[in-house]
Amino acid sequence: MSDDKKRLTTSSGRPYYDHSDTLSAGPRGPLLLQDYILHEKMAHFNRERIPERVVHAKGSAAFGTFTVTHNISSLTRAKLFSKVGNSCRVLLRFSTVGGERGSADTERDPRGFAVKFYTEDGNWDLVGNNTPVFFIKDPKLFSDFIHTQKREPRSHLKSPTMMWDFWSLHPESLHQVMILMSSRGTPDGYRHMNGYGSHTFSMVNADGKRVWVKFHFKTAQGIRNMSATEASSMRGVDPDYAQRDLYEAIAWGDYPRWHLKIQVMTEEQAQVFPWNPFDLTKIWPHADYPLIDVGTLELNENPMNYFAEVEQSAFAPAHIIDGIGFSPDKMLQGRILSYPDAHRYRLGANYEQIPVNRCPFHVNNTQRDGAMRVDGNHGDQPNYYPNSFDSLHAESRYAEPAFELDSITADRYDRNGPGDDDHYSQPRALFENVMSDDERTATVENITASMSGIQGPQRDSIIQRQLSHFRKVSPTLADRVQRGLSA
Ligand code: NDP
Repeated sequence: MSDDKKRLTTSSGRPYYDHSDTLSAGPRGPLLLQDYILHEKMAHFNRERIPERVVHAKGSAAFGTFTVTHNISSLTRAKLFSKVGNSCRVLLRFSTVGGERGSADTERDPRGFAVKFYTEDGNWDLVGNNTPVFFIKDPKLFSDFIHTQKREPRSHLKSPTMMWDFWSLHPESLHQVMILMSSRGTPDGYRHMNGYGSHTFSMVNADGKRVWVKFHFKTAQGIRNMSATEASSMRGVDPDYAQRDLYEAIAWGDYPRWHLKIQVMTEEQAQVFPWNPFDLTKIWPHADYPLIDVGTLELNENPMNYFAEVEQSAFAPAHIIDGIGFSPDKMLQGRILSYPDAHRYRLGANYEQIPVNRCPFHVNNTQRDGAMRVDGNHGDQPNYYPNSFDSLHAESRYAEPAFELDSITADRYDRNGPGDDDHYSQPRALFENVMSDDERTATVENITASMSGIQGPQRDSIIQRQLSHFRKVSPTLADRVQRGLSA
């Protein structure tokens, strides 16, 4: 680096001749107002924090590579999947959900699993969790639900009363609650857990044929969880445990990997699926919809700067690419709107020009100006379309096939109405068929410990309401929790 480049300067480039001593009237002050270097330092410092994410505030991320290992080109025309061996750069951000930016990594919470694929056809964001389902199925409930995971308005404390009140009033939450209360609610860092796109998406092939799809990332490191005791002691020993674990593994060349697999459902199969295939509180059983291998994601590069590349990273389920589409999943529909909205608030209207979010390939449209437009703003290119001066055009080959709707009557349909009210079969399959004896015991103990925190005049009715849901999952589960609570 030349001497010029090493010179300390103000933000406007004026060389400093002194960095530490403020201009003062005499050696003991007072200070002179004209010391702009002091103002600039203080003023910028005062503005260092941007709004933290309302959810998923505490996070860690790394760059890496996604490589296609199996041919799924019969299902999707996405260029990324056109042949085995194709690859692209990715950014994967992990997070907890309810905690603030400085909260502990080992809280019992779902974990965010958000992947940005930088593809030639645009950035594709698959913004999921480490669980295949979610607590609610209508986005209108999201802010209420999240409020119960944050701090109680008066005490400013986390409140098991709020949490279990909400869950017991929304039996559709049972499936996710069961997973949260199992050992998977406290994963051992981010490397030893699976990721799920969770929503139903779609794929469209070269013939314009659509199938419904779910995405699964299976950890190559193997599942590893912490017991409730290990997780709670780690909150004190190293609140940044998961960040440290991920950062150090990559720094030492022990690159974590996940195998991407998909489940595929035809439009005809969707018509006869026993549940709503677009309901985010449900999975598609593997026996009926087996996992199909797609590719491997490896994380191999730590971000150079946390704020620039992790805090400013912005993922949105709205960001899909040609060959991949949405589905009628109501939660997905809500997120298509709310994620870009959150980023515009948090990072500004031009958040997609921030380098970590910018598509490294082709971007061309007539969006212009706005706060912090720092990419040249398309120079002297016309800012309207169509025009007589450039050859910008839309290409019909990217058209998505039309899709049929179940119903054309707009109404506020009961999300848990007839046909949508089985909240119990899948949690039962999890509790009775998938969990080991040890896992069942841990789940019962974790539920009991959490429900023991319910307080106040509604305590008994909240507990009874939740026990009645557990009883419909499994009488054994309800009896064991009830015994635990009265012990
Ligand atoms: P399978 O036996 O084919 O699959 C069970 C799945 O459960 C495996 O993917 C396994 O993941 C995962 N699993 C194991 N232990 C737990 C746990 N404590 N918490 C959450 N997931 C766990 O069964 P089905 O496909 O018929 O599903 C049965 C139940 O399994 C579902 O109701 C659901 O609760 C759960 N499940 C199903 C998934 C799916 O997409 N079908 C995905 C995840 C969970 P792993 O690969 O790590 O062994």
